[in-house]
Amino acid sequence: MHIWTVANQKGGVGKTTTAVSLAGLLAGRGRDTLLVDLDPQGSLSAYFGHDPERVVRGVYNLFRTPASAPADVILQTRYDHLHLMPASTALATLDRQLSTQDGMGLVLARALARLADRYSHVIIDCPPVLGVLMVNALAACEHLIIPVQAEFLALKGLERMLSTITMIARSLRKALPHTIVPTLFDRRTRASSESLDVMRERYHGTLWDGVIPIDTQFREASRIGAPLPLVQPKARGTLAYAELLAELLTIEEHYLTVVAK
Ligand code: ADP
Ligand code: MG
Repeated sequence: MHIWTVANQKGGVGKTTTAVSLAGLLAGRGRDTLLVDLDPQGSLSAYFGHDPERVVRGVYNLFRTPASAPADVILQTRYDHLHLMPASTALATLDRQLSTQDGMGLVLARALARLADRYSHVIIDCPPVLGVLMVNALAACEHLIIPVQAEFLALKGLERMLSTITMIARSLRKALPHTIVPTLFDRRTRASSESLDVMRERYHGTLWDGVIPIDTQFREASRIGAPLPLVQPKARGTLAYAELLAELLTIEEHYLTVVAK
């Protein structure tokens, strides 16, 4: 089982869209995939038709009762091979706590370890806040995906995000390899292409060399609660996420061979 976390401290940069699209692609290829919604706003849960105000069994239960069985808080979606661990607004009560004492930072990692033989991939969607939830997501994952909107203002936020990760990685005593993904790319605007140039200069090596373009079909797909790749396999957005997935799977292969050596 491979666990990927999608995070950025900025909202509206395509985190949830990235999680849904990658999961849709994996599920479409028959890989059992679990989406975990760690955002108290619950946009990922809402995407699949679950109102975070009403979710009674979800990821929150794992924090309240760490002994509870993670399989009991998973929902089937309308799509084969695609499952969801929903968020509830109650998660917000945990999120401001920065403290990770008493193993609070490892709740999710431990719960997911119990599902290791059920899923090929787990993709965790994070809130745009550095708190105990994001620490849990970082502690649980083997790879981090950082969507960044291709515009100048986003670059400062990216700097902040990267230093946050370094800090958390140090306290967790683990390496946190990451891939930066330019999102909402509009090739007609200079802001998009110039900010991409800056990213290429600064983050050579961790920046994915593709981009996720603006594609209005994402909005339509979210309106009907379907991952775009499962309804529009030829959409520009789908093709871009398929390329990203190929890159992530290559990185994953590379880890496996390094570990095996
Ligand atoms: P986040 O999870 O970072 O807050 P979302 O994935 O929810 O961001 O995206 C914010 C909004 O932008 C949503 O309405 C989503 O449908 C839209 N969106 C995301 N990515 C794209 C894209 N590549 N093209 C067009 N719209 C997008
Ligand atoms: Mg989101």
